[in-house]
Amino acid sequence: MPIENINSDLCNGCKICVDGCPMDVIRFDEEANKAYVKYAEDCVACYNCELNCPTEAIYVSPQRGRPVTPAWI
Ligand code: SF4
Ligand code: SF4
Repeated sequence: MPIENINSDLCNGCKICVDGCPMDVIRFDEEANKAYVKYAEDCVACYNCELNCPTEAIYVSPQRGRPVTPAWI
């Protein structure tokens, strides 16, 4: 599971990661106004979330090979 952590202290609730994850790994806690990792096992390490998070709240482990460039970018 390459996505390791979303730092809730840094998350500003913008939902960019939730909308941008192609695998639907990240969900949003409306009450807390924070993103969280729901299905880490589905993460394909595309780095979309980490690269686009404006507050650098997300850490994706480089463990699983090189970044994949999704066709829709
Ligand atoms: S992109 Fe970053 S700041 Fe925005 S909801 Fe996701 S973790 Fe939070
Ligand atoms: S690295 Fe890609 S697949 Fe994994 S959680 Fe982030 S956006 Fe989703």
